[in-house]
Amino acid sequence: MAASIATVQTVKDLRTEVAKWRKAGETIALVPTMGALHAGHLSLVAVAKSRAKRIVVSIFVNPTQFGPKEDFKRYPRDEAGDLAKLTQAGTHLVYIPDMEEMYPQGFATKVSLPSLTEDLCGAARPNHFEGVATVVTKLLLQCASDVAVFGEKDYQQLLVIKQLVRDLNIPVEIVAAPIVREEDGLALSSRNFYLSPSERTTAPILHQVLSEVATALASGEGCDATSSAGRFKLEGKGFRVDYVAVRDPETLAPLFGPIRGPARVMGAVYLGTTRLIDNVPTAPKSR
Ligand code: AMP
Repeated sequence: MAASIATVQTVKDLRTEVAKWRKAGETIALVPTMGALHAGHLSLVAVAKSRAKRIVVSIFVNPTQFGPKEDFKRYPRDEAGDLAKLTQAGTHLVYIPDMEEMYPQGFATKVSLPSLTEDLCGAARPNHFEGVATVVTKLLLQCASDVAVFGEKDYQQLLVIKQLVRDLNIPVEIVAAPIVREEDGLALSSRNFYLSPSERTTAPILHQVLSEVATALASGEGCDATSSAGRFKLEGKGFRVDYVAVRDPETLAPLFGPIRGPARVMGAVYLGTTRLIDNVPTAPKSR
């Protein structure tokens, strides 16, 4: 049997372990997660290993980023399975704080970035990004790693985190990792567990349609026409569409007309009660 992986539950113990590595001159990478780990999360661990000697993965299902009607209570949890996968992936330490450790009595601070979070996922999920920004700020300061790795799957979240690190001068490098997909194109997500067999058959169409929009944009079609066509197609396939949007990949500013540089095609949909998000990069074809 493989040796059991080291875990810590408190900031104090996390810092003690990290301090030992620092003393030995070793670099450290943090991979924040909410658990229910899949190959997408494990790809972040692989990226982390390419960037630092020691890997810390945090597992915390953060209540403040879920809306009152969202899935906090039924969010999948599988600590034993997660620890087995992380051992296999070569993680050195797993940080699993409890609620009291993260939000002790009297906790009062919020980190918010209104300009980046009022639209796209922020419009349908008020307070979601404030919850994410606050918990990620805490995790970055608790671990004080050299690097922290986040997936492009949650593209708006990635930009929020890059911005808060810049604004608050947190001494960590944010590294983006590409989206890991199923063979049929569906982006891996812990929420895919919720899909019924028929919803699971429909789900990959989200990626197909976003890719079609990206191809049309690359060949010179306009942002409005292509994103409207994408929305229409998704609705025809049974999705309830929250948004299909073409955005600047650095600022998330809306783009209009034919694109003149790199862009990100972003989409959020519901299948039944399950919310799915995805995004693909595009750029004008050189002519
Ligand atoms: P979560 O546990 O959903 O909060 O995700 C933890 C991290 O894993 C975030 O940085 C996500 O963007 C990333 N992630 C989730 N799914 C994928 C995926 N399919 N490919 C790459 N990264 C992912």
